[in-house]
Amino acid sequence: MSVPNPTPVHPTIIAKSSVRAGGRFGPGWGARKTKWRIYALALKHLLSQIPRTFGTGPRNCPVCEKKGQFFAFGMPLRLDAICSHCGSLERHRQMALWLARNQQHWATRRVLHFAPDAAIQAILRVKAGYYIGADIVPAPGCRVLDIEALALDDSSVDVIVCSHVLEHVDDTKALLELRRVLTTGGIALIMVPVIHGWTSTYENATVITPQQRIQHFGQDDHLRYFGDDIENRITAAGFDVTKMTAQEPDCMTYGLIRGDTLYVATAR
Ligand SMILES: [Zn+2]
Repeated sequence: MSVPNPTPVHPTIIAKSSVRAGGRFGPGWGARKTKWRIYALALKHLLSQIPRTFGTGPRNCPVCEKKGQFFAFGMPLRLDAICSHCGSLERHRQMALWLARNQQHWATRRVLHFAPDAAIQAILRVKAGYYIGADIVPAPGCRVLDIEALALDDSSVDVIVCSHVLEHVDDTKALLELRRVLTTGGIALIMVPVIHGWTSTYENATVITPQQRIQHFGQDDHLRYFGDDIENRITAAGFDVTKMTAQEPDCMTYGLIRGDTLYVATAR
């Protein structure tokens, strides 16, 4: 028995019907192809950044006073974030610059330093009249102190260094405590992550798990993203506020975060 020849089908028609059926790689191939292109693009971009993670150019470190390449650090990576000699970060270098340029306001005074980092601690210990390192957990050379309820007398210190602490705690309680233990005219040097351009701080009582805090506040133990109203919060606790904002030529020279702000709060 002879088999009739099938009607010839034009290749273009086969291709079109194949696309309608999901293509030769099955249903959804188009969407998957787009996704792989995005993955490839992201990977290509990531690989292109590798050379920059070892420094975009020489910087000066006001902490260790050495010059050289700074490395990328953080998540997401910040270029030229960490000094390859002493490990200082941008916020340490900005604080060190303020301390170097304003020694008349802190040297020989009684200094209280919260969550001491090695970089700034070394600077303060040399020139402070009396130095107290403080942390909420036991740490070498530190007193265990709760910033929300300080076991210190009123007006017992002249200078407080409080960098990247207030975003972890009840900042209203903490700021009142800082004011209480400071002498009138004493200063608190405060740094926190601030979203400049936000008029109000973002807090959310429904955010309770570490994963939620990463999503909402950028870190698993952060309680808020401060906005520009951080200044009002400090003022409300009994301070007058001036600011050192990281700008050129300091940002280029020392590898600071452009616009990062150090709040200098003077106790009224
Ligand atoms: Zn350094």
